[in-house]
Amino acid sequence: MGKVKASEAVVKLLENWGIDHIYGIPGDSIDSMVEALRKEESKIKFYTVRHEEVASLAAAAYSKLTGKIGVSLAIGGPGAIHLLNGMYDAKMDHVPMLVLVGHIPARLTGTDYFQEVDTVELFKDVAVYNKKITSAESFPVVVNQAIRTAYQERGVAVLSIPDDIAMGEISDNAPQLSTVFEKKVPGLVQNDLNNAVALINSASNPVILAGVGAKNAKKELRAFSERISAPVAVTLPGKGAISDDHPNFIGNIGKIGTKPAYEAMKNSDLLIMIGTDYPYAAYLPEGAKCVQIDIDPIKIGKRYSVTVGVVGDAAEAIAYLNDHVTPVNERPFLKTCQSKMATWWKWMDEDQEKKQTPIAPEALMSAIESISEDDTIYSVDVGTSTVWSTRYLKVSEKQDFIVSAWLGTMGCGLPGAIAAKQAFPDRQAIAISGDGAFAMVMQDFVTAVHYKLPIIVVILNNKQLAFIKYEQQSAGQLKYAVDFGDIDYAKFAEACGGKGFRVEKYDDLQPALEQAKASNVPVILDVVVDVDAAPLPGKIVMDEAKGYARFTAKSIAENHKLEKMPPMKTVVRRFL
Ligand code: FAD
Repeated sequence: MGKVKASEAVVKLLENWGIDHIYGIPGDSIDSMVEALRKEESKIKFYTVRHEEVASLAAAAYSKLTGKIGVSLAIGGPGAIHLLNGMYDAKMDHVPMLVLVGHIPARLTGTDYFQEVDTVELFKDVAVYNKKITSAESFPVVVNQAIRTAYQERGVAVLSIPDDIAMGEISDNAPQLSTVFEKKVPGLVQNDLNNAVALINSASNPVILAGVGAKNAKKELRAFSERISAPVAVTLPGKGAISDDHPNFIGNIGKIGTKPAYEAMKNSDLLIMIGTDYPYAAYLPEGAKCVQIDIDPIKIGKRYSVTVGVVGDAAEAIAYLNDHVTPVNERPFLKTCQSKMATWWKWMDEDQEKKQTPIAPEALMSAIESISEDDTIYSVDVGTSTVWSTRYLKVSEKQDFIVSAWLGTMGCGLPGAIAAKQAFPDRQAIAISGDGAFAMVMQDFVTAVHYKLPIIVVILNNKQLAFIKYEQQSAGQLKYAVDFGDIDYAKFAEACGGKGFRVEKYDDLQPALEQAKASNVPVILDVVVDVDAAPLPGKIVMDEAKGYARFTAKSIAENHKLEKMPPMKTVVRRFL
C-alpha cells in the first residue's frame, strides 16, 4: 500500500469537482497546498493576485457568472483577513465559494505564534461551513463536505489548514470520494400553483418584479410576460433577466430605477415577485395582492405581504404558469406602462446625446454600448458607476451584468472582469468603475496583464467619491472629504504592460473605445467625466427634495460655490 500527501489527495479531489481555477497568494502557512498544485501538474490554474481581497471578489464573481463554486486561497493571519470582503460578497449575494486558508502548524496552536489568528473564530459570521483541519486522513473528506455545503447553502465554505497536516501522508487507496452533488430543489406544490393561476387570471394590473433568481428562467420569464401582457421591472442584480429593449420591460426598481417602474408598482393590483428578495418596500405597491415565487421558503413573505407563495425553481414554476394561465392579448395597464416607458427612453436618449466636454457619464454609457458584443459580460462597480450603468446601459438576455449587490463593496468591478475573462475567454469582459472604486484594487490590473486576460476597464474619473458627495448633498450637508488627487490611469495601464487611453474630450471617446475593443490586451480607458453629473433617483422622495433645499441654502449662506445641480425643470419633469 502506497502513501500520498493529504494535500495531493485534496488537489485530485478539487479536480474531480471540476474546479479549474484558484485565485490567491501563496505563502508559508499554505505552501503545502500550493506545492501539491504545482507537483500534480494540476488542471487547476493558479492565478496569483496582488491582494487577497481581489482573489475572493474574483471567486465570488466567477460563481455569480457560472453557477459553479469559486475558489480562493491565502495564508492564515493577514492573508485570511484580506479575503474577508469577497467572502462577504459571496455570502450576501448567495453564491458558493470555497476558501482555503493556511494555519500555523497544529503543534504550535495557542502559543501566540507568528501570524497566529483564530481563523475559525474570524470566519464564524461569514461562513456556512467553517472547520480547521485536524488530521491528514480527514482532510479530503472535510473538503468534500465543504464543497457540498457551499453548493447546497449557496454560501462560503472555509477551511483553515495547518501546513504540517496538509503535508501529512495518507493511504493512496482510500475509497474515492464522490463528487456527485444532487442539489435539493423543492418540488412545486399543486395547490399553490392553482392559487397562483387563479390570482393571475383575475388581476387587471399585474406587474412582474424579476430578481437575480429569475436569471435561470429568462426564456420562461419572457414568455410569461408576453402571455399575460404584464410589464416587467427588475432588481439591480436582476438586470438582464429580460432584455432592456423588450417592449414589456419597464426598467429597474428603486432609487436607481425608472419612474415608469415606480408608477407601475403604485398602480398595480397584483405584484408577481420572481426570484427576488428586494428590500425597499417604499417602491412596492401599496396593498396589492402578491404571488411570490422563490426557491427558498424563508423568502416567501419576508418583504411583502404575500397572498400566494410558490416555493420552487423559477424556471419550473413559470413554465407551469405559462401552460395554465389564460392568455391576455391586450391589457390597457401594459399599454400605459409602455407609453410611459417610451417617454422615459426618450429622456434617456436625450441625456445620452450630450456631446459635451467634460464627458457626460450618460454619453459614456452609450459609447460603451456601441462597442459591446452580443454576449458581453459587464462587471459593474459600486458608486455612481452603478447608477449610470444600470440606468443607461441596455443589457440583453445574452449578456451578463454582475455587481456586488448586497454587500455593495467598492472595488468589485476589476476582479469581476478578471473572473469573467478567465471563465469565458471568448466573451468580451468590460469593467465599469469609478476612480474611487478602481483605486481600491488597481494593483490587480497587472494580474490581467500577467495572465493575458484582455479585459476592458472603463474608469469614470471625476477625482471624487461622487456618490458620497451626492449623499451629503441630498442630506442637506456640504461636500466634505470626498475629493481625490488626479491619477493618470492610462499611464498606469501602460506601466503595468497593458494599454491605456486617457479620454478628456468627447470627440476622442468613440475612437478610444474602438481601439480598446480592437486591442487584444488588457486596456484601461480613463475617461474624465463631468464632476457635476448628479445620479438622481428615478423618483425623488420628499426627504431628498428637502435635503437638496437645505444643501442649496447652506451653500449660499456659507459662501461656498454652489455645485451645479441639474435644472430644476428636469428634476420636476422626470423625477417628481
Ligand atoms: P437577492 O436578494 O439575491 O434575491 C434573489 C432571490 O432569488 C433569493 O430570494 C433566492 O432565494 C431566489 N432564487 C435564487 N435562485 C432561484 C431559482 N432558481 N428560482 C427561484 N428563486 C431563486 N437594488 C435595487 O433593486 N434597486 C436599487 O435601487 C438598488 N440600489 C443599489 C445601489 C447600490 C449602490 C448598490 C450597491 C446596490 C443597490 N441595490 C439596488 C441592490 C440591493 O442592495 C439588493 O441587493 C437587491 O435589490 C436584491 O436583488 P434581488 O432580490 O434580485 O437579489
